[in-house]
Amino acid sequence: MRSNLFDLEFAELSEVILDWNEPAYRAQQIWQGIYQKYWINSLEFTTLPLALRNKLDRHFVFGTLNPEKELQSNDGLTKKILYRLHDKSAIETVLMGYADRNTVCISSQVGCGMGCNFCATGNMGFIRNLSRGEIVEQVIKTAADLGQNGKSLTNVVFMGMGEPLNNYQPVIDAVQILNDPKGLGMGKRRFTISTVGLVPGIKRFTEENTQINLAISLHAADDVLRSSIVPINRKYPILELMAACRQYIQKTNRRITFEWALIDGVNDTADQARKLSKLVEGMLVHVNLIQLNPVAHYGGKPAKDDQARKFQKILTDAGIACTIRLRRGIDIQAGCGQLASESI
Ligand code: SAH
Ligand code: SF4
Repeated sequence: MRSNLFDLEFAELSEVILDWNEPAYRAQQIWQGIYQKYWINSLEFTTLPLALRNKLDRHFVFGTLNPEKELQSNDGLTKKILYRLHDKSAIETVLMGYADRNTVCISSQVGCGMGCNFCATGNMGFIRNLSRGEIVEQVIKTAADLGQNGKSLTNVVFMGMGEPLNNYQPVIDAVQILNDPKGLGMGKRRFTISTVGLVPGIKRFTEENTQINLAISLHAADDVLRSSIVPINRKYPILELMAACRQYIQKTNRRITFEWALIDGVNDTADQARKLSKLVEGMLVHVNLIQLNPVAHYGGKPAKDDQARKFQKILTDAGIACTIRLRRGIDIQAGCGQLASESI
């Protein structure tokens, strides 16, 4: 089977080129073709001699993601693409356009094994991890698409399908490849990894000490409630999670975002807001509230607007930075937690 060029770091591509007795600058030319010109066919690599193009074709494929369906939201600002993978499984990638930025929400796994009860991906169960190349290619395809419309990609969030810290090394390697200044050169602070709160993964990430942003999906401020909606909380309870978050902030001096999907009558109460304020008191954090996005298998309802505002006020009154995130792409099931490959 041919390898995927998107799976390679630059140093690995350079080794291949040296093995083939080609001059070192050929690796640079190929890398630029892929990551700056977004070429995906050896015919486009006119900077290379024909023999080398053919050799590349014999050994490599220029990506493996097959766009199968594309849905655009009614407001034209959100686009969801379903990609068929080489093994026939599928993932979804969502592009969100804003006035001042374009953010792509990418997947790190097919499905997810964490089973959060309000999440469509969780409802699919875990199917498999994505490779580095499958992660990288979601970003490159989006950047190429935006480029054709004279726009550029500004942010990448690991908030699509899957739990990124359960596919740790490929996720970090993919960011490294996309960050490489010889190619796409996207700054690490433009990336955000969102996790359900896997404590060993957060510790490992803390040691990494990168500029990649960290978001934690908290959703509840006491263990009884959190365990009932985010089952992994039984393994990594809130106090342990918060201790790991404090260590992260101390070591990296970076702000953590806490995500909270407000569910009517479940976690949108004043009591939860007060408990949350206590939990994050004195920490360098931002709380991102989002009214639950509807998903078919889960009966919970989005929090009402005024309840969301009351919740926010309790936090801001306690001096905690807190925003209510606008829900995006709900009409095409492209909102947070709505991604599941059977859905389109
Ligand atoms: N597994 C990671 C990243 C993917 S989920 C994580 O859980 O953080 C991305 C975000 O969507 C998470 O904050 C998740 O809690 C949230 N989410 C899941 N289902 C949702 C829903 N139905 N409505 C709103 N947000 C949801
Ligand atoms: Fe997995 Fe995140 Fe969904 Fe939980 S919210 S099931 S961790 S994708």
